[in-house]
Formats: sequence, C-alpha cells, structure tokens
Amino acid sequence: MDEKLRGVSVVWLSKTDLTNLNAGEGEENLIDVKKYRVDGIEYPYVSGQAMRFYLKEAIRRNLERDEFMCVPDADGVPSCLKQVEKMEEYSEKWKESISNCLACDLFGFMKPFGERGAVTRVSPVKVSPAIGLLPFEGNSTIDFLTRQHTERVGERIGGDIVNIEIGTNIYKCGIAIDLRRVGGEEDWSKGTVEVNYALNEEQRIERVKKVLDSLKYLADYSKQARLLTDFTPDIICIAFQNKYSHRLQKLFELNSKREINIQRLGEILSDIKQYSEKILFGTISGVIANEEDVRKVLEEHEIETKTPKKAIDDAISGLK
Ligand SMILES: [Zn+2]
Repeated sequence: MDEKLRGVSVVWLSKTDLTNLNAGEGEENLIDVKKYRVDGIEYPYVSGQAMRFYLKEAIRRNLERDEFMCVPDADGVPSCLKQVEKMEEYSEKWKESISNCLACDLFGFMKPFGERGAVTRVSPVKVSPAIGLLPFEGNSTIDFLTRQHTERVGERIGGDIVNIEIGTNIYKCGIAIDLRRVGGEEDWSKGTVEVNYALNEEQRIERVKKVLDSLKYLADYSKQARLLTDFTPDIICIAFQNKYSHRLQKLFELNSKREINIQRLGEILSDIKQYSEKILFGTISGVIANEEDVRKVLEEHEIETKTPKKAIDDAISGLK
C-alpha cells in the first residue's frame, strides 16, 4: 500500500423507488419509516447500524471460497472469539481472528469478560447513516398489507390490516476506511502507539478492495420481498487521502429543486485535494437537476466524470 495513504473516503447519493428501508418503532397497526427533523420538517433516514449490515452482507455474498466471515451471536460477540475464555488469551489470539475473518478485521467487535471489562476492536470501516435529503411528506404515501393470524400451523383465522409508510427519496451515505488499521491492531503497551499487523501488505489491500467492491452490490435491505429497490450509489465520490479525515462527507448538499449546491461542491473538493492522491467521481443521469453544472465543477478540478461502477472499479484497480 502506498506509504502515504491514510484513508479512503467515499460519499454517495442514491435515489430509491417507493420503499421502506428502515422501520421505526411504529405502532400496533403501523410500520413507519425512521425519520429525523430539521427546522420542523421530517426527512427519512436509515440507521448506521442498518447500513453496516448492508455493507457486511454485500461483502459476505461475494466471498471467495477461501475467505471467511463469522456471524455474531445474540449478544453481538463474533463466533471467532467464542473460544476465548480469558481476557489474557486474546493477546495471543487476535492475529488469528483478524487474519481469518473479514468481519472481525473490517468491522471490529466487542467481547465482554464479565467484571474484568471487555476486549474491543474499533471498526476500521466507519459507516454513516443514510440521510434522506428530500422532505418525507410530499415524497411518500401509506400503503397497507394484511397481517395473517394463524391458530394451528397453516390454518388462517383471519387477519388485520397494517399500514406501512413507503417513500421515495435521495439519500446521502458515506464510508471512511482507516487504512492504517486494516489487518492490524494498535499496541499501547510501549508508551507509544504502534500498529502490529496480522496480514501482509497485499492481503490488506485485498481487504480494502473488498469493501469498495461491495458498494456496487448492496442489496440486503429490509422489506425487499414486497418493496424491492436499488440502494447502490448513483452519484459517488471516492478520495484516496494522505490524511485520515471525514471532510468529504460534506460534499453533497441538495436543495428542494434537487440541485446540488455547486459552490459547496467546489469548496469541499478544494479542501480534499490538498491531501488527496486521487479523487474519482461517478454519476448516472436523472438523479439531480443540475448535472451539467456538476460536471463543470469537476472539470475545473481536473476530475473526470465516469459512471459510479467505473469510478469504483478504477478506485479498486488503482489501489496498490
Ligand atoms: Zn470473526
């Protein structure tokens, strides 16, 4: 891996069809959508936890035969650490779990040891919630479905109507990968912080590629049996940075006419360029209203506009 590289930041917009990606607490006969408010106006969002799950499952679906990802138990403890009974054992076992398991390496974990505390691996892959940028009201409706009751197996005794909120929106999502910590663990025991690695350079690069590749295949969102939609990036920016920073997440601001704030786009690109080896950009048409203005700003910054797939593929092939 390029010595100077510290982080890969990705931010993207995705336009969904009518769907309910992340239900809130709801009521007895209502499945709602998780929402947040800005100045009293409600917008939908998808929690960071759900986004992490989608990302993990996309990686899991595309595992090669010799690759492994464990499944956490009901308490969220990864099966890789099941056999570790004493906290001391972890200091010998960590290399095994990180080198064998993509989930433990990329997404971290917490394993409690009763009163003695817990072993925590901070996730080198950070995921933002998906933020709906268009007001929920005005971009949604209420549909209904019938919830069947059964008394004996297979015997229906009627059902009741359940309302379900569904909406279309443009969501802003993001991830940041802390490259230094992929395949490695911090060692604080020597009065300074060193990173010890369980993987070699090539293996670590493969892990990062796996994360980027998975963005093209996000699919395991909730309620897809009836509300199938695509939630992969429609407009995406990827930056390979010599500093670890989350600044790129501010790149996209959308107004009510579905126009990207052009000035903001230029400002953030100027910031990021100071410490980025490479910036890639991809878009498809029909998502935002001012596509041409966006292209112009990118041209000014000497960034080629590709399709999202091409931008991700080029990011992957450029990672050495
Ligand atoms: Zn694991």
